[in-house]
Amino acid sequence: MKAVQIHQHGGPEVLKYEEVADPICGSGDVLVQLKAASINHLDLWVRQGIPGWKVSLPLTPGCDGAGVVAGKGELIKDLNVGDKVLVIPNVSCGNCEYCVNGDDNLCPEYGIVGETCNGCDAEMIALPRRNIIPIPKGLTYEEAAAIPLVFMTAWHMLVTKAQVKPEQFVLVLAAGSGVGSAAIQIAKLHGAKVIATAGNDAKLEKAKGLGADFLINHYKEPISEMVKQYTENRGVDVVVEHVGKATWEESLKSLAKGGKIVTCGATTGSEVSINLNYIFYKHQQIIGSTMSTRGELFEILNFVRQKKLKPVIDKEFMLKEVADAHRYVAEGKQFGKVILTI
Ligand SMILES: [Zn+2]
Repeated sequence: MKAVQIHQHGGPEVLKYEEVADPICGSGDVLVQLKAASINHLDLWVRQGIPGWKVSLPLTPGCDGAGVVAGKGELIKDLNVGDKVLVIPNVSCGNCEYCVNGDDNLCPEYGIVGETCNGCDAEMIALPRRNIIPIPKGLTYEEAAAIPLVFMTAWHMLVTKAQVKPEQFVLVLAAGSGVGSAAIQIAKLHGAKVIATAGNDAKLEKAKGLGADFLINHYKEPISEMVKQYTENRGVDVVVEHVGKATWEESLKSLAKGGKIVTCGATTGSEVSINLNYIFYKHQQIIGSTMSTRGELFEILNFVRQKKLKPVIDKEFMLKEVADAHRYVAEGKQFGKVILTI
């Protein structure tokens, strides 16, 4: 089959579209003929490499994918060849206390498809049955591939960790990102008031279209000053932080008493400083979050079925154009998700 492979870390040019061996479908696995995959920032980290973080090469990247069942192991009774399915990116042992409790994103062996095993930037993938679920009716492969990683991340941050409530103020940074465009919708679904930031007015208009109540152009206006205006000096109850160093200080300044910063990433740098006096005096919380449990994706898909959450697609590339797709995402031009059609 054809697949994208990384043989060495580096720029987009290290993404090779080449012939590789077909995946082996084990007795408990499902073989999927992929039709679409989506790009996440994690793919860029995996390609570039991060000091101190070992990724086994060669590797096919791609955390999110959707397609049709092309085969299955003899232990699989319920899915059939031709069924439309999507990939759950969580890799976990399935046996430890966390997995058994449903908290598979806390598993000591936790990883992500396309990072700890070959991913979805390929014509086929074979994964354990627990990583494959049917696509909600009416959804295209492209839409299905746009959902898992970013919606799971944003759901776990807002619903599970921050426990967002109606009428609370939620600050969503970088609304044009995959996580940002999912977070706006999830916060609105729970009745919160959303303040969204983006780097240009076109993106802010799209954020408004997803339900954002207040808008900040973070290149033109200081985030915390605008938050003060919008909240009448109160500050926000929750910050959806995935930018890191570039926004950290503004995120802290924007936080109300009793507020929570939930962080799932640091695309601009991970070394930040914190003045503890403010944290304890204001009863604030800084909460880490990575992905979600598999179970939370089922909750998300229920709302997708009801059209209360929707995948946001910016642009599609063909699989062999994966390097261009990475460049496009690296430049931050997108609003929502960038798709690879297969
Ligand atoms: Zn486990």
